[in-house]
Amino acid sequence: MKPSDAILDTLRDLLPERRPIGLHEPEFGDTEKALVADCLDSGWVSSVGQYVDRFEQALAEVTGIPHAVATVNGTAALHTCLILAGVRPGDEVLLPALTFIGSANPVAQLGATPHFVDCEAETLGVDPQRLADYLSDIAELRGGGCFNKHTGRPLRALMVVHVLGHPARMDELAAVAERYRLTLIEDAAESLGSWRGGRHTGSWGRLAALSFNGNKIITSGGGGAILTADSELAQRARHLTTTAKQPHPWAFEHDAVGYNYRLPNLNAALGCAQLERLPERLARKRRLAQRYAAAFAAIDDIHFQLEPADCRSNHWLNLLLLPDAGQRDRLLAAAHAEGIQLRPFWTPLHRQPMYRHAPRMDLPCTEALFARGVCLPSSAALGDSIRK
Ligand SMILES: *Cc1c(COP(=O)(O)O)cnc(C)c1O
Repeated sequence: MKPSDAILDTLRDLLPERRPIGLHEPEFGDTEKALVADCLDSGWVSSVGQYVDRFEQALAEVTGIPHAVATVNGTAALHTCLILAGVRPGDEVLLPALTFIGSANPVAQLGATPHFVDCEAETLGVDPQRLADYLSDIAELRGGGCFNKHTGRPLRALMVVHVLGHPARMDELAAVAERYRLTLIEDAAESLGSWRGGRHTGSWGRLAALSFNGNKIITSGGGGAILTADSELAQRARHLTTTAKQPHPWAFEHDAVGYNYRLPNLNAALGCAQLERLPERLARKRRLAQRYAAAFAAIDDIHFQLEPADCRSNHWLNLLLLPDAGQRDRLLAAAHAEGIQLRPFWTPLHRQPMYRHAPRMDLPCTEALFARGVCLPSSAALGDSIRK
């Protein structure tokens, strides 16, 4: 039997009978309804209100990162992180090619250039060794900054992504960033509840971003947050995302071109309720990943992605690697026909038309993971209903 057929058989055995089965479904209960209703009753539905404050405090507590600033979505959080990291038009920002497009778009929207780097198989994140080798080749340190020898442009920042929730190799990556004077930013959009060596993802970077989109581990409908240990950066983030308005009881005085990026209170109410569920969702998603790992171990020539060593992953999306792209496509088509939502990785960013000419290193691991990877249904609820 071909691996793709064996995988589909295993999924039929494991998954509940109802169809369709989504990739990652949200769950709402009485607390969500109560807090959203309370927010409506209060009349404070927009960007001011107690739920925004409460959500931010809860995020800081859960992650152990001192400051959280809630935003309308994860992309807006990343955009703000890049501005506060000092990224300017004409700069280059290093980031992985294997990520959601939302990691790169705010770089380009700032007038900077995404510069794509490769990932590694164990963590799915940026490969620190290959990044260091590449930079020793193309980077030049002078005048307190780092420059791309080939383009002459400043290499300003390194954005690391915790892909599918698995923590990247942060100690090594932080060391590379420091050596090359790159500001470290973490795209932790997928990794709320993921830890490496007892530290939450997002705590290595000068700034980090979370997302609470409907498909993430918890959702506020739409939403995001900026995380930082630096109180001054947090204050600037809050200011910039609130149209750079100076606090005053009635006057509209603004001291910069700001953004309307603050999370509405209504979304924050939903976020507060969802955050209460996080520990229980993490436990069920862990159980699902363990069941999948055990079931797929029996099939030859495929690989089920485990959490990296010394990490506790949130297992946002479970990943299988097939022998080749042909098997991947067979499986995707057959599963779709049955109402089981599987997904390939995002088409790597250097293959998207607007980033085709962006600078990059060789990307063999990115290409191999894209060709072979399939994400499995990963809703927390499957942790209860999965059979066997
Ligand atoms: C979801 C996601 C984003 C963007 O978050 P939104 O809230 O959808 O704007 C950015 N980067 C990664 C890696 C993501 O998965």
